[in-house]
Amino acid sequence: MRKQVIAGNWKMNKLMGEATQFVDDVKGQVPSYDQVESVVVAPFPYLPTLVQQAEGTDLKIGAQNMHFEESGAFTGEVSPEMLKDLGVTYVVLGHSERREMFAETDETVNKKTHAAFKHNLVPIVCVGETDEQRENGEAESVVETQVKAALKDLTNEQVKDVIIAYEPIWAIGTGKTATAEDANAMCASIRKVVNEFAGSEPAEAIRIQYGGSVKPANVDELMSQSDIDGALVGGASLQPDSFLSLVEAGK
Ligand code: PGA
Repeated sequence: MRKQVIAGNWKMNKLMGEATQFVDDVKGQVPSYDQVESVVVAPFPYLPTLVQQAEGTDLKIGAQNMHFEESGAFTGEVSPEMLKDLGVTYVVLGHSERREMFAETDETVNKKTHAAFKHNLVPIVCVGETDEQRENGEAESVVETQVKAALKDLTNEQVKDVIIAYEPIWAIGTGKTATAEDANAMCASIRKVVNEFAGSEPAEAIRIQYGGSVKPANVDELMSQSDIDGALVGGASLQPDSFLSLVEAGK
């Protein structure tokens, strides 16, 4: 049985006071980590404080990006080792907003995935097709290319520990959710790709989240699907009550 991972991606939202209030409100109320992995994916400046606040609780903290380089002349970037040093557990890589607006490519996502393993961070690798690609019947092949590129040259043991977030771009922040059946079909297709690529053991073990307008009203149906192992949630993760009902659905 794969354990579900419910991650709230705050994106560029909240000020420090709101962020710490949120973690105070939810940290004692999330389900046990053995049942479901509850993760807050916060902006860089809040990470050290939130990690300390959440220490010893079942709530884990993730970052929204990082560089793949170890150190050096990369103004404005944050290294994997810096995140590890702060006690961050997860890192989101290749979110579609970063691919679209910040020139993230399949190649940089792959380098970042390797860097995450080097520093014992759990990578949440985002993939997903645009509206146009779906209409042209290219959704599966686009996602297949992204998945293969992201996992390139990882060991099978590492592949097992990757979390893939399938996020159709047309469903992000739009209120348009993929139907549970469509979301599940794509997650099953990703698992098949992983099977061909790395074999059945990694394919059975790898967790595949769905993301794109997940909210308390649709999370149960999505999480009950055979190949969906969690959710990456933006808008509906910003309020403590809503976040708590999402993580409950992962149990
Ligand atoms: P959304 O964002 O839940 O607001 O659609 C999801 C995401 O971008 O991870």
